[in-house]
Order: sequence, then C-alpha cells, then structure tokens
Amino acid sequence: MKFLSGMPLSSFTTLRVGGVAKHFCKPADRDELRRAMFFAMEKGLELFPLGRGANTVFGNFEGLVLNTRRLRGMKVKRMGKALLVEATAGENLSEIVKLSLEANLEGFYKLAGFPATVGGAVAMNAGAFGYEVSRHLTHVEFMDWEGRLHRVKACELEFSYRSSPFPELGIVVSAVFEIPFFRGDIREDYRAIVSKRKKTQPINLPTSGSTFKNPPGDYAGRLLERVGMKGYRLGGVAFSELHANFLVNLGGGTYGQVVKIIEEAKKRVYQEFGISLEEEVRLVEGSGAYGWKI
Ligand SMILES: Cc1cc2nc3c(=O)[nH]c(=O)nc-3n(C[C@H](O)[C@H](O)[C@H](O)COP(=O)(O)OP(=O)(O)OC[C@H]3O[C@@H](n4cnc5c(N)ncnc54)[C@H](O)[C@@H]3O)c2cc1C
Repeated sequence: MKFLSGMPLSSFTTLRVGGVAKHFCKPADRDELRRAMFFAMEKGLELFPLGRGANTVFGNFEGLVLNTRRLRGMKVKRMGKALLVEATAGENLSEIVKLSLEANLEGFYKLAGFPATVGGAVAMNAGAFGYEVSRHLTHVEFMDWEGRLHRVKACELEFSYRSSPFPELGIVVSAVFEIPFFRGDIREDYRAIVSKRKKTQPINLPTSGSTFKNPPGDYAGRLLERVGMKGYRLGGVAFSELHANFLVNLGGGTYGQVVKIIEEAKKRVYQEFGISLEEEVRLVEGSGAYGWKI
C-alpha cells in the first residue's frame, strides 16, 4: 500500500468539491488498515475514514484520508427465516439492496437510490422511508484507534437518527445483517421509492444529499424553503431547486462556498424560527474539527 501526498479529493466525494489531503491511502485488508493507523499515529496525524464520500465535503485536510474502497466483499448465508449478510466496509450498500430485491427481504430495500459504502452507512446510521441501517444489523467488526480488532453486538452500540459511535470508536471493518424474508411482495414499494427519489432529488447533479438533519418534529427542507434558500446560489454551489436541503455543485463549486452557503442558511433559519440546524454533511478541513484524533 502506498501513502500518497497532496491528493486532490474532489473526485472522492459525490459533491465533487474539494481541497487536497496531505496524506492519502487505500488499504486492501486488515493488515494494511492497521499499518495506516500506525502511520498516522507515528506522525501525529488525524485520520479520516472515507467511504463513498456521499456525506462528506473536503477543504484542505492536513491529516491522513483513509479510503475504504478496496475493503470489499460480501458473504451470504441462509438462516431459517432470514438471510445473514456479512459485508466489508468498502462494499457498496447497493449490493445488499440488490440482494434484498432478489431474495424479497424485509426493509433493507428502502435504502435504495443513494450512494454509500457499508462502513459509511453504519457510521451515519443511514436511513430512509422509516428504515435505518441499524435495524437488522447484528454485529459490527471494527478496528480501534490502537489497531485492535473487535467484534461487538449491534445491540451494545448506540445508534440514533443519523448517528452512531463511529468513527469516534474506530473504523468499521465489516458489518453483519440478519434480514428476514418478507411474506408479501416488496417490488411495488421499491418502485414507488425509486420513483419518488427521481422526482424529488437532484440525482443528475453532483450532490451530497441532505445538508442538515431534520430538527425534531420538522423538516430542514421545509424551513430552508420558507427562508428562501431553495435554489439559492453562491458561486458554483446552490441549494437544489428540487430539494431545498440538497446542496448541488453547478460547476466549479468550492469548499469555501459550501461553508458560506451553509452559514447563510443556518443564520436565516435561526433568525426566522429560532431553530439551530445541525449539519448532517461532514465538513472536513485543517487538522482538527472533523478529523478523528488517535
Ligand atoms: C443523492 C443522495 C441521496 C442521499 N440520500 C440519503 C438518504 O436518504 N438517507 C441517508 O441516510 N443518507 C442519504 N445520503 C447521504 C449518504 O449517502 C449517506 O450518509 C451514506 O451513508 C454515506 O456513506 P459514504 O460511504 O459515502 O460515507 P462518507 O461520506 O464516506 O463518510 C460519512 C461519515 O462516515 C465515516 N465513515 C465512512 N466509512 C467509515 C468506516 N469504515 N468506519 C468508520 N467511519 C466511517 C466518515 O468518516 C464520515 O464521518 C444521500 C446522498 C446523496 C448523494
């Protein structure tokens, strides 16, 4: 495994905005993952685990970006009334969605239509249409910040709305799901979900999905629309005309513009409603703030 220096990051995120990582690596197995951790530890660098980059926007990052995309693989086993799926962190979440459709499994298909790795989805506790990735998660294997591997039961970890103990606790290496077979037919619901996404989300433009979490009892998109942020543009970055909570890159967008447009949106929503919106998207820059200290 090579440690690369000065790696441009825009092509590693779905918003396609980005600065440069001081160090960058792509481990292919657990040994290389541990080596990357020790590299960061020895150099006193912060380390940022990166999956598909669908919820991440980079400025210039002074630490080590560890891309999990080479940690791929999936094992499937039948267990009575369910399928047991063990997937490695860098695997596409969509592979499990595909399997759910083929085997007519409960719930997981609701995560169709957005980019994610298994590790990123577990870390974010990604969810849609009332279903969250933690729902049928039974075990998580992770490497702690001293390079030790752990396998823990999901019920011992705290998952909540778009929140999990990762990556603070360590790097997710693999995840096990036990997804029951569904008695009815999931295909109609699946088609409705995909069609709704196409109609309401700017999936033909570079985007990072929801910018803010929904505040309790409300929708960030509704609040943003009310304060005139839908379609609001700042340089190459804008809040989508289709979905007020989705940032899009209309061409040449920069990290600085992302930060400014987010500040503007938060200020307006606070002034109008007294609500402090919390970012769902991870903004990563410098050597602190959103990096993860070993
Ligand atoms: C068009 C579009 C639609 C979307 N719709 C939804 C939606 O409906 N619901 C939803 O929840 N999200 C949605 N998202 C956001 C995004 O897809 C999810 O948050 C997804 O789970 C991010 O996965 P990722 O691999 O891209 O994570 P990244 O962006 O790479 O990382 C996200 C966070 O997870 C951490 N992380 C990544 N991998 C690991 C690992 N192996 N171990 C520990 N930590 C790790 C990162 O450090 C970072 O903090 C959407 C995004 C887009 C672009």
